[in-house]
Parts: sequence; structure tokens; C-alpha cells
Amino acid sequence: MLNCDIERISRIADAIKKSKNVVCITGNESVVECGKMNVWDDTNIFRVEKTYGKAPEEILSAGEFSTRKERFYNFFKKEVLGDLPKPGITYEVIKNMKDAGYLSSVIAFSIFGLEKMAGVEDVIELSGSVYDYYCCNCRKDYDLDYIKSFKGTVPLCDECDSAIRPSIRLFGERIQNDLNTQAAIACQKADIVLVLGVDLYGSKIQYCTSHYRGHNLILVTENEHFGDKYADEVIYTKSQDFMRCLWQHLSRD
Ligand SMILES: [Zn+2]
Repeated sequence: MLNCDIERISRIADAIKKSKNVVCITGNESVVECGKMNVWDDTNIFRVEKTYGKAPEEILSAGEFSTRKERFYNFFKKEVLGDLPKPGITYEVIKNMKDAGYLSSVIAFSIFGLEKMAGVEDVIELSGSVYDYYCCNCRKDYDLDYIKSFKGTVPLCDECDSAIRPSIRLFGERIQNDLNTQAAIACQKADIVLVLGVDLYGSKIQYCTSHYRGHNLILVTENEHFGDKYADEVIYTKSQDFMRCLWQHLSRD
């Protein structure tokens, strides 16, 4: 796709160079491109239901965590923490663009902290991060190493012996208000919103994009979705291919 769309990418790069406020929103597709198994593809959903007796979104839910912590953590440790991805070219380019002053805000919908791992500091992590944990009772903070090295399925607080939970948004929970507000303000001020691998039909992303007042919402996605119609421009390709090519154009001068 990219060889025949050089003009298109060049035009987008020029628009980004002229813009004062570009927001980048990252999602699940760009995580999968970094090697993370997608528990929501058809094969895995079937396997998860067979192994754990429930669908992924039922296990990764607030209800499951409060009532079945053992099953929650069995799933979480194997399926979510089992093959943690490393940031690929998409995230390297986001970091380069941030350093070069091309990006004003980065909003992450995934929970794998790839933007921060790539060195981007001020990321709005709308769904939290698998690298952060806290005690449900006394709110003491913990890191991933503590969870991994804990002897026992459900990690417990070393102060009060209560269960520790991941600082991620579980199904059935809302995005924290302050994060939602930060994301909404970033989109409101944006000239260009660049969305990488998110279905625009979801209510969480629509909350962000509904605050955008411009006409340059660019979606990069590998597969067609119903929500693509909400973008001003859609580029059907992998995020990493688009970003590699975009950076070639941005760094040309
Ligand atoms: Zn505690």
C-alpha cells in the first residue's frame, strides 16, 4: 500500500509540520503488531472459553475480580502478563515525533505501557497499565516485579494482607474522570488527531473524538470496521508501516 501512497503520506506529513497541535491515539492493533497475542481474536476467544469457562471480557471484569480473584489472576498472569510486548517502530516514531515537537499529546487505549517504554513521558493512559498495581484496602502502590515474584496466585499487600489489583480499567469500570477530561481537552485543542489501530465505533474513543472540532481525524487501521466512517481519512495498513513511512517524510528536511 505504501509505495503507491507516497503522495498521501507526504501530504499528511506536510499537514503535521504546519500544525500546532497534533494528538496521537494508540490502540490494540498497534500492540498486536508488537507481538502481543490478541485474546480477542476468534481462535483465542474459543480457547479462553474452553480453558477458563468464560470469555476474556467476563474474566477481566470488576465482578470477576471481586468474587473470583483466583480465576482472575490465573487468567491475568498467563494470558495478559505471559507475553508482554516490547515497543516496535510505531512507538519509536511516536517518541521521535514527540521529541521533535510534532505531537502535543499521546493518548493510549491499551494497557501495555508501550509508549512509556519507548521513552514518551506524559502519556494519558486511559485504561491504566499492567506495570502499575495497588492494594485494594490501603492503596499502597506496587510494581510488576512484586506481582511476578509473589508466592501464591493472588498477590497480597505486605502492609495489610489485602488483595492487590492491577491499575487497569476492568470491564464494567469507568475510565477515571480526570483522565477522560485530559483526553477530551487534548482532542478539543487539536488540529489533527491521528488514530492508530482503534475501532472508532467504541464509546470510549467516541468520548475523545466527539471533543475534536477539526476536520483532520486520520485513522490508520489494518482491517475495515463499522466505525471507520467517523474518520475524515482512513488508511488501511499496519500502524508500523504507516509510521515508518511518515517519519521518513517528517525527518526529510
Ligand atoms: Zn494494603
